[in-house]
Amino acid sequence: MEMTKTGPAGSTGDPLIVLEKVNKHFGSLHVLRDIDLSIARGEVVVVIGPSGSGKSTLCRAINRLEPIDDGVIRFDDRPLPAEGKALAKLRSEVGMVFQSFNLFAHKTILENVMLGPLKVRKEKSSEVRSRANALLDRVGIANQADKYPAQLSGGQQQRAAIARALAMQPKAMLFDEPTSALDPEMVGEVLDVMTSLARDGMTMVVVTHEMGFARHAANRVVFMADGQLVEEAEPDEFFARPRSDRAKDFLSKIL
Ligand code: ADP
Ligand code: MG
Repeated sequence: MEMTKTGPAGSTGDPLIVLEKVNKHFGSLHVLRDIDLSIARGEVVVVIGPSGSGKSTLCRAINRLEPIDDGVIRFDDRPLPAEGKALAKLRSEVGMVFQSFNLFAHKTILENVMLGPLKVRKEKSSEVRSRANALLDRVGIANQADKYPAQLSGGQQQRAAIARALAMQPKAMLFDEPTSALDPEMVGEVLDVMTSLARDGMTMVVVTHEMGFARHAANRVVFMADGQLVEEAEPDEFFARPRSDRAKDFLSKIL
């Protein structure tokens, strides 16, 4: 069932996202400490850890929403660009989905999905429209295309946000607690879309507390605490035999 996934980073030898000795401070707070992480093309990495451990900062650093102080981040074999067209291109190649859905309230769902390709990429409207409709179909909300975000449930809005990121045809997708703001009955429909993306070979970094998703869709679990990457392992191994005391303690609280 999950045999189409590539193995963990290192086994394919073809990294898409590479962090080397990455450090980041907010004032006196050392929020990312010597982070080394290599994510292979097609790999799905779930990042877990206590609140405040630096998971969101890590995600935001990868598409340069947060500049880092020290170290190197490479995406697709190039250091992250700092500004200009190259930065805009990076942002379109690294789709991001946040806890809050961040859709434009005064645009329809279809318009939200079409906006990036039209404005940033200057693509042809007819092509963008058909791609956007196909993506809405893929995330299961084709029939909501002409509604406004407020008319949709939280789960539908988050699926629209995923479709909007996919419309830019990204090389990787970052998810920062995409189901944390949802009512429980809507979590599954969003995780199903993410699982299907993972099975289709999308490179994904997913910060989540959904351990079922980590077990079934991830190639690797990365555990962070206090800005450090404390432990990483394949999901079965991590959940069965966490090595560090901090990981054991964290798992005992959430499982
Ligand atoms: P997580 O996502 O694991 O909960 P974050 O990456 O959001 O952790 O935050 C890590 C630490 O950095 C926290 O202590 C948080 O308060 C702090 N922090 C995050 N963003 C900022 C910021 N813009 N300015 C100052 N401190 C921040
Ligand atoms: Mg966070």
